Amino acid sequence: MTYTKLLVVDDDVIDRKTIIRTLSKEQNNYDIVEADSADDAYIYLDQMHFDVILMDYNMPQINGVEAIVKLRSQPQLKHTAIVMISNLYNESLVLDCINAGAQDFLLKQEVTSTQLTRSILQARKRHELEQQLYDSYRQVKQLAEKDPLTGLHNRFHFDEMLNRLLLARQRRKREIVAVMMLDLDKFKHINDNFGHEVGDQLLIAVADRIKEVLRENELLARLGGDEFAFACGELTSIRQIKAIAQRVLDTFYVPFDIDGHAVHCSGSIGIAIAPINSENRKELMKLADIAMYRAKNGISDKICIFQDNMQEAFLLKYQIESELKMATQSQHFELSYHPVIESQSDTITIIEALIRWPMANTTQLPEEFIPIAEEAGLIQTIGQWVLEHALYQFKEMLSNDHYQFRLSVNVSQCQLCDNDFANTVQRALETAAVAPDVLVLEITEAALLQNDQSINDTLLALSEMGVGLALDDFGTGLSSISHLLQYPFDIVKIDSSIVQNIAQRDSKHHDMLQGLSYMLEKLNITVVGEGVETTMQAQACNDMGITQQQGFLFYQPMSVDKVKNILKDESKASRLTLVHDGSNNNNKDT
Ligand code: C2E
Ligand code: MG
Ligand code: MG
Repeated sequence: MTYTKLLVVDDDVIDRKTIIRTLSKEQNNYDIVEADSADDAYIYLDQMHFDVILMDYNMPQINGVEAIVKLRSQPQLKHTAIVMISNLYNESLVLDCINAGAQDFLLKQEVTSTQLTRSILQARKRHELEQQLYDSYRQVKQLAEKDPLTGLHNRFHFDEMLNRLLLARQRRKREIVAVMMLDLDKFKHINDNFGHEVGDQLLIAVADRIKEVLRENELLARLGGDEFAFACGELTSIRQIKAIAQRVLDTFYVPFDIDGHAVHCSGSIGIAIAPINSENRKELMKLADIAMYRAKNGISDKICIFQDNMQEAFLLKYQIESELKMATQSQHFELSYHPVIESQSDTITIIEALIRWPMANTTQLPEEFIPIAEEAGLIQTIGQWVLEHALYQFKEMLSNDHYQFRLSVNVSQCQLCDNDFANTVQRALETAAVAPDVLVLEITEAALLQNDQSINDTLLALSEMGVGLALDDFGTGLSSISHLLQYPFDIVKIDSSIVQNIAQRDSKHHDMLQGLSYMLEKLNITVVGEGVETTMQAQACNDMGITQQQGFLFYQPMSVDKVKNILKDESKASRLTLVHDGSNNNNKDT
């Protein structure tokens, strides 16, 4: 037989005994304990479990609602139902008790044995159901607050807790709160190369490592993808903030062991500080995000604290990105062509396609909008348009003539990362009916720094197809001779910053370029001097055997029609002799 364990709490001994007598009239078996004060009741409740508490509303030390609130705050009473009994009855009193956590309310004068028994039974049942409901609510809440992959809190919980942290800070004026955003560098690359499962395992491992270096009271969440956020309060100096951020970044130092793969991964952290940058949660998150992008794009410093001027730069970038998206959809781009000439025979050997965005309100400089297109994932579409359009216009240039020159097109590293890129090029060549060896793709060294197998494979496939490969802007700081040996380049374009410094024959640039051109000749690689602006520079290149030259001395980038005119006017084309006073700009399309 199961007993209902009952605690009857009433300071009035007569009332207490009446209740116990009433209950004993029923068949039900009650195991009853009596308490004559709330304090007494708490002592019993500490020592044993009760199924139901029958409690008088009016007791000397404590008001009934307060007593319920106090009882409901005790986790060990999670499964105990509470029934209030009182000499007074009014509806608001009943509602107050129920809202505070009681399951029923009875009037002492009307208590009969059946009613009391039924009330106890119903209160137990009701409480059980409430408990189940509460448990499932907790589960749903937890699911809503936790990131299922890493077990960290999610954005929803982070927002809520950050609000509390900021409120608490307002009471402690001398303290600062740091909101930090951490983004993994090249996570997409890891996902693409090792697969999503390894990517997921890496995120879990990263979460574990960060957890280890943060204190328990410091907030940590995964906001989505490879983006984590943490917030620390009770700080008093920027030095402390930087130390925490550095501690987090140091955890990336040792490669992650994921299923036997040593996965190298680093992170970038952006920081916004309350109250210095803002006191508002949303604003702080936004500013930390801006600072994070700054850290990501920085060469060395992977921790960046928000500064006011960043917002302007970010806003401009955002505007360029929005305008670019529209331009990409409506193909609002044009191409300019910039010839490379062979100085000895005065002929055009290559014509380089350069993108133009004449209708842009934000920026028309490719050096500004191309990196933004890369970051926004637009460069693949733009790059394909450039390739197809350039091939099409190249055919137009050739239609009446028999010139033996090649077409070069600049290719972004993001295009090379696409495993299908070699096929895309092949299809474009087939559609335009252009032989592969007529096309040259210009690649900057930044693409090679990742040392990525898929880029290597793509370059090999292109080279095997017969497409020429040019290493663009060589000598701009990232240059490495090993890239020349590792990848199948036919052409190296020496950056204008070097070419423009070689006129003084005793300069280091001069000697370096001389050595470099000798080495490249031995490797059977054609050298092109970029950015030749003066006859002195052209002559210095010639003297080193660099006879392929490109620059404003010969031509400005020009429209397809202008190229066609130059080619049509053969005498003009053949008059392409090197001029020595640097003032002959007859061919410029300014
Ligand atoms: P790049 O491929 O090195 O192109 C040469 C840039 O130098 C061009 O600038 C050209 O106008 C400029 N230039 C050529 N000769 C001279 C000279 O004698 N003096 C000076 N001061 N400048 C000269 P542009 O057109 O602004 O292009 C800048 C960069 O934007 C290009 O550098 C290339 O990296 C990128 N780019 C241009 N078009 C495309 C494209 O279609 N796709 C991709 N991915 N990148 C492109
Ligand atoms: Mg180029
Ligand atoms: Mg270049």
